[in-house]
This record gives sequence, structure tokens and C-alpha cells, in this order.
Amino acid sequence: GHPVYRDMPTTIFEHMSALARETGSINLGQGFPDAPGPPDILNMAAQALLTRSNQYPPMAGLPELRAAVASHYALHQGLDLTPQEVIVTSGATEAIAATLLALVQPGHEVLLLAPLYDAYLPLIERAGGVAKVVRLTPPEWRITQAALEAAASPRTRFLLMNNPVNPTGIVLREEELALLARFCVERDLIAICDEVWEHLTYDGVRHHPLMAQPGMRERTVKIGSAGKIFSLTGWKVGWMCAAPPVATLLARAHQFLTFTTPPNLQWAVAKGLAKPVEWFDAMRADYQASRDRLVAGLTKAGFLLLPSQATWFVCVDLPASGIAMDDAEFCERIVHEAGVAAIPISAFYPDDPVTHLVRLCFSKADDVLDEAVARLAEFR
Ligand code: GLN
Repeated sequence: GHPVYRDMPTTIFEHMSALARETGSINLGQGFPDAPGPPDILNMAAQALLTRSNQYPPMAGLPELRAAVASHYALHQGLDLTPQEVIVTSGATEAIAATLLALVQPGHEVLLLAPLYDAYLPLIERAGGVAKVVRLTPPEWRITQAALEAAASPRTRFLLMNNPVNPTGIVLREEELALLARFCVERDLIAICDEVWEHLTYDGVRHHPLMAQPGMRERTVKIGSAGKIFSLTGWKVGWMCAAPPVATLLARAHQFLTFTTPPNLQWAVAKGLAKPVEWFDAMRADYQASRDRLVAGLTKAGFLLLPSQATWFVCVDLPASGIAMDDAEFCERIVHEAGVAAIPISAFYPDDPVTHLVRLCFSKADDVLDEAVARLAEFR
């Protein structure tokens, strides 16, 4: 049925960040970096604020940013998008909302892969859609044809997925992408791909968009986020890319959600997307070093972590670390008793949750990570 907002709790991310503020904890819960962000991009936004128009930009986005997104994906992912196929939004969350409101009609089924980001389900249900959840399990989180077939029906019209995956740090394997593409083509599904973590991959692993798979160019909505690419999560500049007939519908939903997005931020993001490839490599290397620092510290303290090759997150396996608590209890206890906030993985399952994993965010300064490790070592 329809979700009732009156009965809905505050998101786990805001809940944990509020607890972290109240308790003065180190916040390894909600995913955001603690660095100020790339100084040249911040400067460009400040300059644009003072020297360029601060009135409504074009509804679908500044032409400079739409062109920059298209060129960026041509260079980094081999896509052939035109600027007209890019609609700028106020963050990826708006892009997800606009896409679902524009495309999902009452009774349409939407396939989801759990663990899933918590915004997906309420938005699908408010649009009148029905979520069909494929439940994935650790440590492989592997997607199989049998699981897709068991969840889908002739009423299934969409696949909504996240790749690379928050909270697991998985990057979908080539054969999984091929499987999903074949599945969408055979069943005439539209794929809605939340790819906000596309640049945050490590160990030489690269992200490949589902849109580039055979038959997917015309049936994919690809969603991206400057907040993640440039470590500026508060900016809320995102975009959605789709072939013209779909993009037209997406723009109609966007016009009645936020209409436009602050023009100075769009301008600075457009400049940022044109940075040389080496800039993105260096950014990845920095986060990889942070991941390695947190993993090494926690491993030395006796914790066992699942491998993470993407995002800003790594998962602690509680029973394998010798901890006899479920994820929710562990997160409540460490925020109050150790002064560290984290996110329980069960929050990413609508039902039948995996309850033995806890997500930690590693996009933090070295001394912050070291202090968090010391506190967690002391707690156990
Ligand atoms: N994407 C962020 C995370 O997973 C949360 C963003 C939000 O709270 N809206 O931590």
C-alpha cells in the first residue's frame, strides 16, 4: 500500500547524524567527507555567485553543465549522450524522485536489489508502483537470473538499481551487467541506474554503465551526482540522462519538483567535470588510502571487514569479529559508549534484513579515522 509519512521514521542517515551531534561522536555513519572540497571548484562557485546571474537558469539545466556531463561521460565511460539528453537536478535524490514520478504508473512493478538505498521504496509506492525486491546476501551479493525471474512478473516495467553499490562497496561484475541488460531487453524494462558512486572505485576496478550494454541505450535512465564526484555532498547538484522521449518526461516531473538548481553551483560543476583524467585518478587514490587506513586499523584491533572496492563505505562483519550483537544494537551502543556513529545494514532491507553487518564511512581525515579505530578497539 501507500507509505504513510506520518508513520515513517526519520531516515537512518539523519537519525545517526543527529545522535552523533548529540553525543559528540565521530560520525562514520552518514556518507560525507570531512575535507572542505576542491578549492578551485569552491572558488569558481564563489566567483560565479558574484559575477553571473543568480536568477532562474534554464529549467533543464545550464547549457554549459548539460554539455559538460555529456562530454564527461564520453571521455570516461564511452557514452554518446547529447546535451539534450541530460537534465540537471537538485541532487541525485531529486533525479530518482523525478524519474519515478515521471515514469511509474499505478500498478507498475519495479524490480529492486536489496540491500537498497532507503529513498527508493517510499518514492515507488507514492507513485503507485509495486516494489519487487531481489534479496542479495553477503559476502558475494551476487545477482542471478533465477533470483530476477522469481521476483519479476508480466507487470514488471522497471529495474531500479545502484552501481557501484551503497552500502556494500560492490562494483557489479561484467557478467552481472550483461545478465541485467538481457533481462531488461527480453522483458522490455526501463532500467533506472543510480550511479552516483561511479568515480569512487578502487584497486584499479572501473565502473561500467548499464547504459553501454547492448540494447540499453534507449531504455536506461542514468543518474549521477556532483556531490559524490567532487566531495561536496551539500551542494545537491545531480543529473539524469536518457534518450529524448524519456528525457522529455523526466523534465516534466523535474519542473514541478525543484524547477531549477542554483546556477553558480551548476557553473562550477561544469568546470569541474572538464578536469583532466589524472585529477579523478588522484581523488580515487586518496580515498583508497583512507579505506586502507581504516581497514588496517580495525583489522589490527581484531575486527573482520568485508572487501569494499567502491563508495566511501566498508562493512564490519560482527560475528566474524567475535561480537555477539545484531547491527542495530551494535550501532546504538557504539554511538553512546564508544563515541562512534555507524549505520546498520538492516536499514537497507525493506524486510527479512541481513543483521550482522555494520557500515562505516572512511571519507575522513587520517587522525579522525585513527581516533575512531582507537575508540572501537577500546569498546571491544
Ligand atoms: N547517501 C548517503 C549515505 O548513504 C546519505 C544521504 C542522505 O542522508 N540523504 O550515507
